[in-house]
Amino acid sequence: MLSSHDHVVVVGAGLAGWRFCEALRREGFAGELTLIGDEPHAPYDRPPLSKHVLSGKWSLEQTVLAKPEALEATNVTLRLGSPATWLDVATKTVTLKDGTAVTGTHVVIATGVRARLIPFSADEDIYPLRNQADVTRLLEHLERLSEGATVAVVGGGFIGAEVATALKARGLTPVVLEAAPLPLISVLGPTVAEWLSGLAPQHEITLRPNAKITDISYNGDGFSVLFADAGDLDVDGVVLGVGAEPNTEWLRSSGLELSNGVVVDLNLEAAEGISAIGDVANFLWQSPTGEERVRIEHWQVANDHASQLATYLTTGTAPATMVPYFWSDQYGKKIQMLGHPKPTDDVQLVSGSVEEQRWVALYSRSGVVTGVLALSQPRALMMSKQLLESPTSVADALEQKPWA
Ligand code: FAD
Repeated sequence: MLSSHDHVVVVGAGLAGWRFCEALRREGFAGELTLIGDEPHAPYDRPPLSKHVLSGKWSLEQTVLAKPEALEATNVTLRLGSPATWLDVATKTVTLKDGTAVTGTHVVIATGVRARLIPFSADEDIYPLRNQADVTRLLEHLERLSEGATVAVVGGGFIGAEVATALKARGLTPVVLEAAPLPLISVLGPTVAEWLSGLAPQHEITLRPNAKITDISYNGDGFSVLFADAGDLDVDGVVLGVGAEPNTEWLRSSGLELSNGVVVDLNLEAAEGISAIGDVANFLWQSPTGEERVRIEHWQVANDHASQLATYLTTGTAPATMVPYFWSDQYGKKIQMLGHPKPTDDVQLVSGSVEEQRWVALYSRSGVVTGVLALSQPRALMMSKQLLESPTSVADALEQKPWA
């Protein structure tokens, strides 16, 4: 367990890294605490970037998590603007690109993920959306477009749908290009993807499924999107929302197990004195149907990891089972999910209707509830959390009806 003689070095000054620093102090840790981040900014929140910031309702300052008073109260040494390039596991030394090194007694890896890129001819002028630099660049481009200009959004997943919604709110004309037959099919499964597929057109946003893009070129004035079926589309801007990849390159020669993120155990430990949390952690999760190895890119999971690890390191209490949660604001609706079901799980509508666009659905596997998904039914969703806190049969869930 940590004592005041310890020095905890946290790499990655995002949500998980910052929340962990706060939680560690809350747990009474009085030792040295260093937070290393490659971005030049104090920790900020990402969900507003694709919602309030892109739509023009918020400034970037409103996304800041670590305000100066909080930084001071947390007594953390910030090392910003230079990425970690190497970790020596034996000595707990983190080397930075600027040539300096920080040695601690415990290292917490919280380097998150980065936007996946696709090598199109115009890739320099195509915008992903993961961080403040991305949104700043994208906003500069959007401000040069005239009202109603067409912007292609490549990828109809959560980020793509939120970006399209924000672009429409700015008076632009987004066109969502989705390679799969339905957006979100690989995450939520075919039934729910079908139920949600009406949201974009009802919000007057064009959605083109089965859009297999072969290239996007830029002629200095506009973009041409080329499709595998030989069709093309001329647009004024392109935003990329095609998923993310864990930031683990800096750990390649560390000897830690890297496989779809940093592999950690039930206590979020990758090796003695080395832990990983948030989007980058490939962790063991006690799901309602048994232990699963997962990496989950949800805001709430990053928060939960941060507080669980702080408690574990200061008190030795093993992390309790968590109920993963995410939300997404898209096409004028709120989608919320509890649990982490597989797209192949069974699904049934238990409240509301697809037509009214207010409903609750249960996911299950072998008759056990694995997830609850709600469209514009926030209260019903939260009331259903008990179904995932311990294994619950579908029969029991249908009898209890906590969503009603
Ligand atoms: P991050 O917040 O990504 O922080 C990691 C930090 O580490 C970054 O600053 C990164 O630059 C830095 N870093 C990387 N490599 C290095 C290195 N070598 N050295 C030093 N620093 C490094 N989740 C939801 O549940 N609901 C939502 O509606 C939602 N909306 C989102 C919208 C957007 C636009 C984005 C990008 C994400 C959204 N998320 C949402 C996901 C949520 O923001 C993430 O799950 C959360 O930020 C994960 O926190 P993290 O600390 O693990 O990673």
